[in-house]
Amino acid sequence: MIIQLLGTGDSPGTPVLNCHCKTCEDARKNGWERKRFSILVKNAGKVILIDTSPDLRRQLLDNGIEKVDAVIWTHPHFDHFGGFSEFYRVQGNVDVYTTPQIHENIGKYMHFLSYKKREVNIFERFPISDIYFTLFPVNHPPVDAVGVKIEWNGYKIVVTGDTNIEIPETSIDEMLNPDLFVVDAIAPSGKFKKHMNAKEALSLAERVGAKKVVLTHMGHFFPPPKVAIKYYPIGEDYQTFIFGKGTLDEFLGD
Ligand SMILES: [Zn+2]
Ligand SMILES: [Zn+2]
Ligand SMILES: [Zn+2]
Repeated sequence: MIIQLLGTGDSPGTPVLNCHCKTCEDARKNGWERKRFSILVKNAGKVILIDTSPDLRRQLLDNGIEKVDAVIWTHPHFDHFGGFSEFYRVQGNVDVYTTPQIHENIGKYMHFLSYKKREVNIFERFPISDIYFTLFPVNHPPVDAVGVKIEWNGYKIVVTGDTNIEIPETSIDEMLNPDLFVVDAIAPSGKFKKHMNAKEALSLAERVGAKKVVLTHMGHFFPPPKVAIKYYPIGEDYQTFIFGKGTLDEFLGD
């Protein structure tokens, strides 16, 4: 199974339109960016997306992804669902999994599309192909938001989704001992109502006993990657993690 970070940026992405801070200028000058949030889960030829970034067309083209089998939505913010129609026009009938409440909220924006709504409750373990997923509530006021636990062949990957540090205890129990922990960190420091900073994210990683941690949903508050990487386990767009036997080419080639 592969897990690929298709977009590691916050809602405006980096560079931010009309922002001329050092990070945004560095991104323009050196040709790097942080696209909006999506995570690819791929195994045995099945492609599952956690969230549908507004940058999805570019992300799918860049990675040679021609068909999406299923989508999981974490919450009703534009940077997490806005790109759904990027592939809907060429591929209908996609299964979309989330809670009834999140389906209702995103459905208001997507009412002109006919996708297959699959309602799952929080803490309900469900399979897509041979991978098991569990959605657990996090804390991202004022909207309902979930994180995602992914289980395959004895491996466990946890994606926090968008959340502040005040995560319910029952969800912490669900997150324990992941092989990979993909965690929201919008800035190196500072207090944010809807998100964690890097310090909070890393303390949470320690609390859940993560074997490996990677920061995502990063804003332009971070220095450019070549500097930030010295201090934080930052994620980068298209960074890929492989679980189980096989090379990246074998996984991508099927
Ligand atoms: Zn977001
Ligand atoms: Zn900026
Ligand atoms: Zn959000």
